[in-house]
Amino acid sequence: MNAQEEYLQLKNYWRNKILSSYYVVVCIIFLAELVMFLFMYILTGAFQYTPVKFAFIYVITPTTINLISVGCAQFIQNHSESEMVKNYAVVCSLLIICSVISTIHSYFLISSAAFVVPIVVSCILDDVNMTKISGIASAILLIVTAFLAPIFDNSWNSSQRWFNVIAGLVLLLVVYYICQFLCSYTRDKNDIIFQTSLTQERMHNALKMDSMTGLYNHSEFYHCLEEEIRWCHDNDKMISVVVIDVDFFKSVNDNYGHDKGDLVLIRIAEILRNQCPAKAKAFRYGGEEFGVILHGYTKETTFELIERIRHMIYQERFSFMPDRHCSISAGIFQYSGEDMSTEEIFEKADKAMYQAKQGGRNRTVCSDL
Ligand code: GH3
Ligand code: MG
Ligand code: MG
Repeated sequence: MNAQEEYLQLKNYWRNKILSSYYVVVCIIFLAELVMFLFMYILTGAFQYTPVKFAFIYVITPTTINLISVGCAQFIQNHSESEMVKNYAVVCSLLIICSVISTIHSYFLISSAAFVVPIVVSCILDDVNMTKISGIASAILLIVTAFLAPIFDNSWNSSQRWFNVIAGLVLLLVVYYICQFLCSYTRDKNDIIFQTSLTQERMHNALKMDSMTGLYNHSEFYHCLEEEIRWCHDNDKMISVVVIDVDFFKSVNDNYGHDKGDLVLIRIAEILRNQCPAKAKAFRYGGEEFGVILHGYTKETTFELIERIRHMIYQERFSFMPDRHCSISAGIFQYSGEDMSTEEIFEKADKAMYQAKQGGRNRTVCSDL
């Protein structure tokens, strides 16, 4: 999983956490409404409604709307594929809860301050556009709910109400301003984290590679071989392990120089990489030794492939040694789930390669287990 995917997973986790917290918020509001109901109605008898009507307007209706809004957001969270839709569902649900509080409980003027919460939540979800939109939506809903509030409570005169709206808008502006900074800060911090993890990923990949030829290196050969052995065991499959050694390579260095020797190794690696099928892996095992691990190849088809590669290398012409061919000797071992260690498997292929050397070089030999 790369950093971007991990980040999306983290966001998903936090969206779920925020949604779960909404249920707690709805419960707290419900309990507060209940306490207020008992306190105001039973103790003071201050309202003009019957207890049932009072409970219906100030307790049951807001709690039901709040629960439906959170339920819808939860449904979208579970079923939508779009990150943006999921984010907006979380913030919209909160805007609905705030509107309900601000409209129905306008007796408590402070209730309109709840509109700062959607701005803060959109900031947590790290979406700058959504922070802007929830800022605007909060301001509009603050004004709209101030118009609707008198339907439920008429304790405040119109100027008190509109002074409260202006104070609420100033509060929204301040919170929005701070949240913009927070969003920029989070974005900059994320950029640093992404860059660091990208560098880490590159370094991790570089550790597996041989820098000169671009093939996988010696330690990756053993790592892959171990994994392949496990795979053969678990799936009852077989792999071909090939060890390749360049013939008389020392004399290439001696006659044409080490740098020219490097060019030969690079070209051999290129041929190996190009000729091996996509599922195969080619390695530079050591100095002038290479390895190949093949899936789904029989001894015969592996032999055909390696012979084709051997021919290509032999046919290759290097400008600095026009009169000389470059050849390889190769050993093949077919592994099909026997109880063997990686070293034993390598040794089998290596022994076959030495037989090829002893047989006159420039040839391929299959190990007969
Ligand atoms: P054989 O056919 O028996 O394999 O003979 P050979 O000369 O290839 O074998 P030997 O082991 O005697 O020599 C291998 C040479 O490979 C010696 C070493 O200098 C050279 N070599 C190893 N790594 C590199 C490298 O990265 N670049 C270059 N140019 N040469 C290398
Ligand atoms: Mg060698
Ligand atoms: Mg050699």
